[in-house]
Amino acid sequence: MNKIDGDLIISSLCEGGAVAQKLPSYEPRQAQLDLLRLIIRGFNEDALVMAEAGTGVGKSFAYLLPAIHFALGGDKKSADKPVVISTATITLQQQLYEKDIPLVASGMGDVKIKSVIMKGRGNYLCLRRLNDTLQEPPVFDFDYEELKRITIWSRTTKTGGKSELDFMPADSVWGSVCSESDLCLGNHCQWREQCFILSLRKEANSAHIIVVNHHLLFADLAARYHGAGYENAVILPPFSRLIIDEAHTIENAATSFFSSDFSRAGLFRQLGRLYNKRRANRHGLLVRLCAMQTFNEDPLENLADAIQKIRSSVEELDDRAVQMCSLENIYRLSPSIDESYLKKSLFPCLKNLRRDIQNLTGMIRDLIENLNEEKAGDPVVWEIKAIIRRLENAAETCDVFCKYRKHENDVLWIEKINNSKNSGQMRNFSVFTRTPLDLAPILKDSVFSPNKTVVCVSATLAINEDFSYWAGRCGIKSIEERPVLSGCFPSPFPYSNAVLLASPSDAPPPDEESYQEFVDKASGRLAAISGGSALVLFTSYQSLTSAHSAAKMELEPLGIRCLKQGDDDRTRLLQNFLNDESSCLFATDSFWEGVDAPGDTLRLVIICRLPFRTPGDPILEARREAIEKRGGNPFLELSLPQAVMKFKQGFGRLMRRSADRGVVAVLDSRLLKKSYGQLFINSLPETKTSFTSLDNILNDMENFLY
Ligand code: SF4
Repeated sequence: MNKIDGDLIISSLCEGGAVAQKLPSYEPRQAQLDLLRLIIRGFNEDALVMAEAGTGVGKSFAYLLPAIHFALGGDKKSADKPVVISTATITLQQQLYEKDIPLVASGMGDVKIKSVIMKGRGNYLCLRRLNDTLQEPPVFDFDYEELKRITIWSRTTKTGGKSELDFMPADSVWGSVCSESDLCLGNHCQWREQCFILSLRKEANSAHIIVVNHHLLFADLAARYHGAGYENAVILPPFSRLIIDEAHTIENAATSFFSSDFSRAGLFRQLGRLYNKRRANRHGLLVRLCAMQTFNEDPLENLADAIQKIRSSVEELDDRAVQMCSLENIYRLSPSIDESYLKKSLFPCLKNLRRDIQNLTGMIRDLIENLNEEKAGDPVVWEIKAIIRRLENAAETCDVFCKYRKHENDVLWIEKINNSKNSGQMRNFSVFTRTPLDLAPILKDSVFSPNKTVVCVSATLAINEDFSYWAGRCGIKSIEERPVLSGCFPSPFPYSNAVLLASPSDAPPPDEESYQEFVDKASGRLAAISGGSALVLFTSYQSLTSAHSAAKMELEPLGIRCLKQGDDDRTRLLQNFLNDESSCLFATDSFWEGVDAPGDTLRLVIICRLPFRTPGDPILEARREAIEKRGGNPFLELSLPQAVMKFKQGFGRLMRRSADRGVVAVLDSRLLKKSYGQLFINSLPETKTSFTSLDNILNDMENFLY
């Protein structure tokens, strides 16, 4: 077995060690060395590792060193497979690839380390699709100016990566020219010699380290799980050692890859690629397929009729589904619903759609079967087959919806999407989605069982140093045949002196009417004391809007700018927040994690409500029902640990560097008044506290900050 030399690796990261000397502003950190030791064991003992590493531990170097030593061959002459490192964000991916890996390599002397960064397929240009789009006018409204710019860029770009473009193309434009897995012709493609994706994969085949994001990782793992196997290259070359950074996000990241959905817009797009008519001109792949036929009779009219039938069935289904979701935007098919309306109205439409899709795909398959071998290998046929598969998946989803009572392990729901873009031209539409009720067995079989070492690292994996909740959600808990190692590695930052945790004892309970008024008033007053530099986190956009308007009146006269999520795209909003030191940012959801604002840009984090997920999330509701059904307590087993994890993420926004200093104010009285509130407090590092009236907190805050 290939083993790595633990002593050698540890000494290189100790004071005066070869790698330590290369790190700017190196400080010896016990937690980092302990984490490094655990990960080395993970490699040498073929173990699964769960590690919670607080901010500032230096986790990336603690996993890069063993990964690189292993990939270079450890005690063997050469390694046979690469180590894959997966991160939640492209930013962290780039930091590892551009800074951290070269730094570690520079401390390892003469060795040549080959690393490759791979982003999700949709980030790369597909030359074949670009060429097709240029030849055939797309079905939907389109910006040809942008297409021209992409075409010019395609002649000089080396990677075909979207981030290299000097402008941000519209989704509709990029969506018609980017690479898509089931539309890729691979070795049958006439562009294969110049293809960016194929050349990147070739590079990855000989890499020691491949840095991917969770999106790409799960695209690869889902394909392997669904039959492609673990021995051959799929999207990534075969691998058996995996490091997952920001591992707390894998359940969400994996969900879409093990789910299926369809919508009117999506189906129309596929049908449009098969056949569309503009004035008297007929376009699409089926026109080209019919031209390959040797019959006297032209089958195109029949195919066009079959497509028209599907369009009508989809329209009817979509209208009824949108109607069903008119009160709540989401309609979940659960055993408790009254199914008389479904039987009368929705199921017949689903059955019609399924029948019409099967009719069309059957006709097309007959035509393909009649082709000789040479014509059957034509790229047009490959692309038609890919579209048929997408249509048949939608037909299968229709069938599953009609037999929903038999699919107890799936969550099935319809969501109405309010399409406000280009109002007047676009209308609301529905999406039918099928998602596994429990991802744990799937993650166990696709991630943890097939790989020899899987290291999961994050700042939030445990609750009070207990990994049970996360281990249960991701399937590690049910693994018995493998060693599972775990450890918590506390942040070296001086929280006990540098952070004041405050919660007003006079805040009304969040379900009382006066609560919002309190939040509106308190957020402005708190931010006035800190001189702005605040991140105000919400669980609802409605509450955010109200507090933002109120705080603006209080803060803007003081020269403090109030930014609000929804007024700009996420990246620009964050940039404005970072550039304007005293500004305040009012935000929800995604801003609870991933905001890195070190120094005086962020001196106050306000958590308005404990982040329990709001009712209405169909997956959460179905999972709660399943826990209840087996006699468990959904609040204790699901809602509470989920909220504690998110709370820790929100709290973690404040201190990003050891010299940072500031206040975290929690405006939810349940923190102090409910027995479970202690679980939230205990899950944080020790800080100074101020649990008193809002007026007293403002005084304490002033004394603490100044
Ligand atoms: S091989 Fe696939 S990604 Fe590459 S150009 Fe052809 S279709 Fe596009």
